[in-house]
Amino acid sequence: MSGRAETQAERRAKAARDFGLEGRTLYLPHMPFGGSYLLAAAIRSIGVDAWPVPDSDERTLDLGGSVTSGDECYPQKIVVGDFLKQLRDSDPGKIGFLLPTANGPCRFGQYNHLVRRVLNEHGYSDVPLMTITSSDGYRSIGEYGNDLVRTGWRAVIAQDILMKMLLKTRPYEIVAGSADAVYQQGLEEAAAALSAMDVTHKRRLEDLRAALQRSRDRFRALDCVYDRSRPLIGVVGEIFCRNNTFSNGELVRVVEKHGGECWISDISEWVWYTDDESARRFESEGRKYSKANAVRGLKAGIQRRDEETLYGPLHEDFVGYEEPHKVREVLDLAWPYLPYTGSLGEMVLSVGKAVYLHGKGVDGIIDISPFTCMNGIVTEAVYPVVQRDLEGIPVRTFYFDGTQSDLGRDVGIFMELATTYQRRKKTVRRFPGYFGAA
Ligand code: SF4
Repeated sequence: MSGRAETQAERRAKAARDFGLEGRTLYLPHMPFGGSYLLAAAIRSIGVDAWPVPDSDERTLDLGGSVTSGDECYPQKIVVGDFLKQLRDSDPGKIGFLLPTANGPCRFGQYNHLVRRVLNEHGYSDVPLMTITSSDGYRSIGEYGNDLVRTGWRAVIAQDILMKMLLKTRPYEIVAGSADAVYQQGLEEAAAALSAMDVTHKRRLEDLRAALQRSRDRFRALDCVYDRSRPLIGVVGEIFCRNNTFSNGELVRVVEKHGGECWISDISEWVWYTDDESARRFESEGRKYSKANAVRGLKAGIQRRDEETLYGPLHEDFVGYEEPHKVREVLDLAWPYLPYTGSLGEMVLSVGKAVYLHGKGVDGIIDISPFTCMNGIVTEAVYPVVQRDLEGIPVRTFYFDGTQSDLGRDVGIFMELATTYQRRKKTVRRFPGYFGAA
C-alpha cells in the first residue's frame, strides 16, 4: 500500500464491488419520495449510485397484481410492481434494488423473501436485492455501517423537517405549486449535502443544517394567507402506506383540497420506537448493563444530538407542531388502550400519537392502513374508546388496496365532522407567530 488516499472513483468502484453492484444503480421504493430521495443521497456518500424508483402508476398495480395472490399486503404489491416495471423499462443488467426490512410482528419481515422469489421466477435472479435491518446491527452493509447509518439518520431527519415545512405551508399558499417547488429545491440542496464524499461527519451536519435553514427562509418568504379556521388533521397509520403517496391516493392532498391541513407522523418516530424496543429487550433479558446496550445508548445519544442540531433553526416555525421529546411519551399515551409490552409495532404508535395529537389541538385523526393490515384492524377496534375519552374527536381509518372508489367523497364527509368538532372542542391549539393574532 502506498498510503495514498483513495480517489472517489476508486471508492465508488470498491463500494460497487463490495455490494455486488458493479455497473448497476441501486433503486429504493418511495417512502415517501422525498425520504427515499434523501436516503439514496446518503447511500451515494459511500460510493454506491442510488436513486428512488420512478413514480408508481397503473402498471405498478398491474405488474404487482400479476405476481401476488392477494394474501400479501398492499405495500408488497406496490414494491414488487415498481421493481418489475423498472426491470422491464431499463436494462436489468444495470439495476439493483434495496428493500429495508425488520423483524416486526407481521408480514413485513417476509417482503424481501417474496420479492427475491418473484425476481428469480421472472428471470431476474442476477439482479441484486439488498436488504438492511437494524435487528442485525446493519450487518449487510459491513464496513460502511457506521458512516451510512449516521448519514442515513440525518437523511431521515431532513426528510421529516422538509415534509413538516411543506405540509404546514402548502394549504395556505397563494400561488398553486409554489410550496411544492420550494420543497423540491430543499430536497435537492439537502441531497447535495448528504451525498458529498470525502467530508467529515461534522462538516456534513453543518452543510445539511445550512441547507435546511435556506429552505426554511424560502418557505417563510412564500406568499401565503394563514387562516386559523382551517382544520388541522393528524395523520397516523402503517408506515409504508402513510408515506407512499401513490398507495394512499394522495390522501394528504385530498384533505388539503377539502380545506384541511395535515400533520403526518414522522419517519424518525419508527426509528426511535425500534431503539426503545431494544432498550426494553436488553432490560427484560437482564442485559441492561451489557456492552451491547451501552453501544445502543451511545448511538442513540449521537442521533439525538444530530436531530437537535438540525431542528435548531426551526423551533420558531414549529411552534404548535412540536413532536414528543421521546417516543416513550407516545407509548405511555397508548398504554390504557394497547399496552406496549404486549402490543407491538405501528398500532401502538398510531393510537398513542392520536392521543398526543388530540392534546396538541388537532381537529381530527386519519389512520392510513393497507386493506387487511393487522395494525389498521386493531386500531380501528380501539378508536371508539379513544374517541370517547377525547371529547369525541373524529377518528377515521382509511383502508387502501388500489381500488379506492371515491376518496374525495369520504374525505369530504370526514372534514365536515372535523369542522363541527373544531367549533366545540375544548383543547386549545397553539399557533406559530406567522398566523398573526387571533
Ligand atoms: S404493517 Fe400491515 S401492511 Fe405492513 S406488513 Fe404488517 S400487516 Fe402488512
